[in-house]
Amino acid sequence: YQVIEDVPLWTPKADDSGKKLFFKRNEALDLKISLFRGDITKLEIDCIVNAANKTLLGGGGVDGAIHRTAGPLLKNECAELLGCETGEAKITGGYGLPAKYVIHTVGPIVMGAVGKEEENRLRECYRHSLEKATENKLRTVAFPCISTGVYGYPPDQAVHIALETVRKYLDEHHAKLDRVIFCVFLPSDAELYLKTLPLYFPPG
Ligand code: ADP
Repeated sequence: YQVIEDVPLWTPKADDSGKKLFFKRNEALDLKISLFRGDITKLEIDCIVNAANKTLLGGGGVDGAIHRTAGPLLKNECAELLGCETGEAKITGGYGLPAKYVIHTVGPIVMGAVGKEEENRLRECYRHSLEKATENKLRTVAFPCISTGVYGYPPDQAVHIALETVRKYLDEHHAKLDRVIFCVFLPSDAELYLKTLPLYFPPG
């Protein structure tokens, strides 16, 4: 696999956990999935996904970092898009970012327990972002942990939605993508993904 920056924390290898796996191994995917801990704005790939808000005009967290690095031209293009609904995805250029494009998606806001509605919207964020990437012939994409910051989606539930949705999409469309990177920022998320990845992408 290709090392993008530092060392990816996870790449498929022999599984000694003995856990019951939800998904069978799909060898075509073994080299396409990476876990990267760090700043998504540093990734030099086709596109990074932004956990944006409905205005698409920038905010805090990963959204703020992306807009700061991309520069003001990103906000100009975003303004022309006239917002984005929860679960939808829209694409812009990357401007000052090393990534060529940014796919902006709006995650659900969770207050209290996660309902079916929020779960479905989060699933759509991942699926629509992947569709947007492949429609535009983009072959490498990185996701942050959508909705798990200020939007309040519990990370230990969101990780399953993220991994399951990407796995199902790749089972059908793996020829269209070379790499999907899960970009985690917090040590606790790195741990969660390390633990959960083998359930959805069982190593050989
Ligand atoms: P949301 O509003 O969708 O919850 P946040 O930006 O608040 O989005 O948080 C989403 C995730 O992005 C969190 O796990 C947060 O730690 C992470 N994050 C914050 N800054 C960055 C960054 N520069 N690169 C990657 N992930 C980041």
